[in-house]
Amino acid sequence: MRMILLGAPGSGKGTQGEKLAAAFGVPRISTGDALRAAVKSGTELGRRAKTAMDAGDLVADELVVGIVEERLSLPDASEGFILDGFPRNTAQSRILDQLLLKNHLPAVEVALHLDVDDEEIVSRLLARASEQGRADDREEVIRSRIRVYNNETHPLLDYYAKQNKLIAVPGVGGVNEIFDAIRLAVIAVESGLA
Ligand code: AMP
Repeated sequence: MRMILLGAPGSGKGTQGEKLAAAFGVPRISTGDALRAAVKSGTELGRRAKTAMDAGDLVADELVVGIVEERLSLPDASEGFILDGFPRNTAQSRILDQLLLKNHLPAVEVALHLDVDDEEIVSRLLARASEQGRADDREEVIRSRIRVYNNETHPLLDYYAKQNKLIAVPGVGGVNEIFDAIRLAVIAVESGLA
């Protein structure tokens, strides 16, 4: 399975991504996790990414593309992947398509949109801020991340819909309930019913 996860920050991509990765036996690749690890260990990449991350902006394409390119070249990604947080703008989607082609890997099969409305997102992220203390979960940064999502990432829904790869599942309800809805939608798209 080669799947990308689309959805606002806090829509549940991480949680559902882990479950999907386990179910399909493929790695979940999160550019956000990789960037946070780089910031924590103080690498050059982390240093260059930190300002944009703290402001809730996207970091430069070349920084995330490097992460994804390296990760996709590892053997465990040869059978598939769940990409969480990449691509995040149309330039990155085109780059991903080219990367897969260049590495003789099959194209993305499914783009999953976890659909959650903005106000629900804000309250989830504020709750996560007090639980996990993520630096980018303060309210003004949260609003900016949602704005960036709506301006930069939301247009990707159209990019994948035009290729008949988009499935949209409401990201509200219990974790297992959402997961079951995703599974049904994936089966439908794979059998050409969607
Ligand atoms: P996430 O955990 O996916 O919400 O990512 C946290 C932050 O990392 C984002 O707010 C961005 O600053 C940065 N980031 C993660 N993935 C990307 C990406 N594909 N392109 C640009 N910035 C990214």
